[in-house]
Amino acid sequence: MLSINKNYLNLKESYLFSEIGRRANAFIAANPDKKVIKLGIGDVTLPLCDAVIKELSAGVSDMASASTFRGYGPEQGYDFLKGAIKDYYAKKSVSLEKDEIFVSDGAKSDLGNILDIFGRDNTVLIPDPVYPVYVDTNIMDGRSVSYLKANEENGFRPLPDADTKGDIIYLCSPNNPTGAVYTKDELKVWVDFALSNNSIILFDAAYEAFIIDNELPGSIYEIEGAKKCAIEFCSLSKTAGFTGTRCGYTIVPNDLVFDGVQLNKLWLRRQTTKFNGVSYIIQKGAAAAFSDEGIKQTRENIAYYRRNASVITSTLDKCGIWYCGGKNSPYVWLKCPNNMDSWTFFDYLLNNANVVGTPGEGFGENGKGFFRLTSFNNYENTVEAMKRFENML
Ligand code: PLP
Repeated sequence: MLSINKNYLNLKESYLFSEIGRRANAFIAANPDKKVIKLGIGDVTLPLCDAVIKELSAGVSDMASASTFRGYGPEQGYDFLKGAIKDYYAKKSVSLEKDEIFVSDGAKSDLGNILDIFGRDNTVLIPDPVYPVYVDTNIMDGRSVSYLKANEENGFRPLPDADTKGDIIYLCSPNNPTGAVYTKDELKVWVDFALSNNSIILFDAAYEAFIIDNELPGSIYEIEGAKKCAIEFCSLSKTAGFTGTRCGYTIVPNDLVFDGVQLNKLWLRRQTTKFNGVSYIIQKGAAAAFSDEGIKQTRENIAYYRRNASVITSTLDKCGIWYCGGKNSPYVWLKCPNNMDSWTFFDYLLNNANVVGTPGEGFGENGKGFFRLTSFNNYENTVEAMKRFENML
């Protein structure tokens, strides 16, 4: 008789966004005259930049004539895009080989798929609060997960201590949901820990383009030794507004050797077997996002979001509320005022300021008592929402 993967039955239902929607819709139905502003948005809202649109269109035209038409492409991505990504890393003083770069349809897929190349007996260490994909993909495989406490004391940038254990370690910086960014010294502590414990770090750099502070690392490979212990996942979703267009990349350095096997070769084998590459048209657009013009234009969009984030953080400063994030991240993570728990604060904010945010406890145990606001709404709404926020308090 057919059996199923029973690990799926161990997944917790995620009620976070449906519950937010339910409460917000109930409020809107009961108060049709009130304008509700959503600062819980986790998706970009500005359109793709001109440089990207131009190359997407050029890609469409290429498909229209036999001489430039493309069928199956290389599973790991076209050379022109891998070259553009390699040059992008060179600007951060990180030198990569093209065969270390794997183009994907976004970071989420690869964060889940990478687990194919690791044994199910590995222990997994995941910071809490966290982007839920890391936890759920490991539960699907039946791995045991332990959590690393991120909190106000460690600035939501936890470091290993004498009791820390984990074969597979997840780090996300700039972080979703907290907006916290590890410094180079802090990442070095993690790299040294991984090297001495024979662990692998899965480093999620999906929000690296939001970093404006030059001292902060946008890639784990800015840290010495990282190429021997880390895989990096990145995406054009937040960098260039590709959440609906879909393109990302994963770096698997040739120096990563575990059990006498090069991980790069395992991942190549996995990808060439189970993945048939990202569409040529999308890769054309993605390469344009890394051109000088593309970087200039996408950074203008990011600057727009960052201005919204500064509207949020300056209001929190005025109100004397503890927070992290916001400067090098689209997310602001605040401590709920007056010791409210995160759902109580959600209701309070919705009822008194007609603003919707995201309760921190939806991202894990350590998110209790915290709240996430995002900078993805437009400027006018963000200003209006934060005025109401200030008046409310
Ligand atoms: N990693 C983090 C931390 C995210 O917040 C997200 C999306 O919200 C992703 C990865 C997924 O990115 P992509 O759109 O490239 O799949």
